[in-house]
Amino acid sequence: MVGTMEQAEKLLKTYYGYGSFRDGQKQVIASILNRQDTLGIMPTGGGKSICYQVPAMLLGGTTIVVSPLISLMKDQVDGLDSIGVSAAYINSSLSYAQVEQRIRKARQGEYKLLYVAPERLESERFIELLADLEVPMVAIDEAHCVSQWGHDFRPSYMAISRLVTLLPKRPIVAAFTATATDQVRVDIVKHLQLREPEVFVTGFARENLALSVIKGENKRDVLLGYIREHDAEVGIIYAATRKEVDNLYELLKKQRVPVGKYHAGMTDKERAIVQEQFLYDEITVMVASNAFGMGIDKSNVRYVIHYNMPKNMEAYYQEAGRAGRDGEPSECMLLFSPQDIHIQKFLIEQSIGDPERQAQEYRRLQQMADYCHTSQCLQRYIVRYFGDDCEDCGRCSSCSTERQLTDITIEAQKIFSCVRRMKERFGATTVASVLKGSRNKKVLEMGFDKLTTYGLLKDRTEKEIVDLIQLLVAEGYLLITDGKFPVLRLHTKAQAVLAGSERVEQKLRLRQEPVAREVEADLFDELRQLRMTIAKREGIPPYIVFPDSTLREMCGIKPTNPAAMLKIKGIGEAKFFKYGAYFIEFFKNYQA
Ligand code: ADP
Repeated sequence: MVGTMEQAEKLLKTYYGYGSFRDGQKQVIASILNRQDTLGIMPTGGGKSICYQVPAMLLGGTTIVVSPLISLMKDQVDGLDSIGVSAAYINSSLSYAQVEQRIRKARQGEYKLLYVAPERLESERFIELLADLEVPMVAIDEAHCVSQWGHDFRPSYMAISRLVTLLPKRPIVAAFTATATDQVRVDIVKHLQLREPEVFVTGFARENLALSVIKGENKRDVLLGYIREHDAEVGIIYAATRKEVDNLYELLKKQRVPVGKYHAGMTDKERAIVQEQFLYDEITVMVASNAFGMGIDKSNVRYVIHYNMPKNMEAYYQEAGRAGRDGEPSECMLLFSPQDIHIQKFLIEQSIGDPERQAQEYRRLQQMADYCHTSQCLQRYIVRYFGDDCEDCGRCSSCSTERQLTDITIEAQKIFSCVRRMKERFGATTVASVLKGSRNKKVLEMGFDKLTTYGLLKDRTEKEIVDLIQLLVAEGYLLITDGKFPVLRLHTKAQAVLAGSERVEQKLRLRQEPVAREVEADLFDELRQLRMTIAKREGIPPYIVFPDSTLREMCGIKPTNPAAMLKIKGIGEAKFFKYGAYFIEFFKNYQA
């Protein structure tokens, strides 16, 4: 071993201020320190960076980190800088002179870590420049980019293996990804030419996340209700299309929510501005398409709501995983409606030509839809999907018992019978207006007011009836056909209900009282203010000064001396020297 785990743990405490490695981190770091090529499959927010940063500090020389995103590199280097580890990045945002300067410094051994964009590695000259460096390890972030089967194939990742061969002494190669499919794993090992790698699948269970799937309820109502109840908190709302992002943004703006939006249809400048506002907590809610988030390391995101179901589990967990990176309790809510499946099918048809890949994407979509329907533990479903296993989490919407079963057999029978009488040729809205007993033109022209099912649910609003229909689709009693004008059909399951031999139950969420926080909210707000003042002065986002979890712990401990301060999670020596005095001063006055 080139360093011991004890040394690694010491660095973790001194620099990062963390008491212990997470489960998966320990194995990965031990393997790297054993000079083994290593493939770490860990979820977003699982703590991959520390897996190569800590060994880099022990290995001597300069570890090269290949990272696909400019913003992520900057974030990582800022983060390392804030804890006193020297690092730099080289990418297209720099001038030629800046690149030369950084390479010169790297040669003088100034950096422990050098982040490079993969495109750089396609340049002969650049590789020659690196060849003079002492490079003990090449770490590859988002390694799935090397696979054509992955979701973000980057041809320049193919150049990484050349770098590895051209270096005078073969470095340890450590690759990281959050992608689960076997094909991608095989590609990573093959194209990065990993030598007998140790492969670890770990950390997919996130103990601070409460996952939930909500179906058969009105999405807008759920969303607005949630945001109203959590107005002091930071969250991301993902929607499947630009139009939906725009609509939700307008909706929330009207409600005076400090909201921003982000999608690929906006200019680079617009996106950069809104991203910055979000990082600096100037806006607290971001409505976004899946274009948002790669490279967002903001640690105090308290909730991620998916307004639509994403295309597969990897995409879902990557996006949802952006909640609670600081380890504080956070929520990931997926608002499911059967239309989401149609949207995703449509997107697959539009974007993928190759039938084999299309079939693969449909399979993955099906696994995503299964997640929305499963009654097993959601956390466990995810961990199993990624190739590991865990106990039931006790926090997700399947595990939590905060539900009330309501018998809706009669309503279901009325709906099924109406669908049948309308010859299974109409969509949810028309069926709902007939059940409501509406006198709208279409209903009257078609003579639906003569049906025996006309007005059978007149005591309900049309919106409530549509929601009930959605629920029955989600539960597999009704089908929605594909195509431009989707219509409702009865599934065989519905026949049994009509015949009276099967009952239908709706699981209603009981409104949960917001959990009272143990820490005084006012004190926490004051600490946030102090953090914001420091962040503005230093020109870095607040969460880089200290994550929310550190502030919360401070609320409990109220440190007035260095020893007490250094015990707090997330305060290593460098941060203590930079910011400790302000907080000690604050608490001395606070107690006075
Ligand atoms: P990933 O790159 O896998 O998405 P990060 O490396 O950004 O995840 O880590 C996510 C968060 O978890 C960061 O805020 C990081 O500081 C924190 N973290 C990582 N390892 C530990 C640990 N051992 N103890 C406490 N917090 C940790």
